[in-house]
Amino acid sequence: MTAQKKSSILIFDTNIFLRGVDLNLFPNKIYTTPEIINEIEVKRYESRNRNIINRIQAAIVSRKLIIESPSEKYVNYAKTIAKNTGDLKALSDQDYSVIALALELMNSQPFVIELFTNDYSIQNVCFELNITVKSLFRSGIEHQVKFEVYCPHCQTIHDSDKLNEICDVCSSRLKRRPKKDF
Ligand SMILES: [Zn+2]
Repeated sequence: MTAQKKSSILIFDTNIFLRGVDLNLFPNKIYTTPEIINEIEVKRYESRNRNIINRIQAAIVSRKLIIESPSEKYVNYAKTIAKNTGDLKALSDQDYSVIALALELMNSQPFVIELFTNDYSIQNVCFELNITVKSLFRSGIEHQVKFEVYCPHCQTIHDSDKLNEICDVCSSRLKRRPKKDF
């Protein structure tokens, strides 16, 4: 029996911070890694990021934003899975750090973990790892990213466990794409 998960912890990727979203709009605790903060601070001299850096610093001081490094074993595990999905080269050290942090918090915290990113390769790897992923678009509306398995040749939709198997209609290899409507 598992305990009911009452609340959720959010993990933010670089591209979410760079949207300039007000962190206080989220009632949850937000986590990220030192790698992500370093990546944003490298860009600190761009005037549009000055407010974002200031907001991040204030959120760290108020403990709204927690900076944490994942253990090496979770980074390595994320890389192994990325190799399988063909995303290994598409992901940076920063990307692996947030994926690994999600895995580690899922194992150590009694909360639902939600990783916010607009990066398609990260979404792909998270799908394999059963990490809940959300995106934040320009409109500020959040969407849960869901995938469907489909045939690129005859366009039929298949069960999600049929990924990389052969289409029973036309014998093409099945692929995966983000679902448009949900
Ligand atoms: Zn087909």
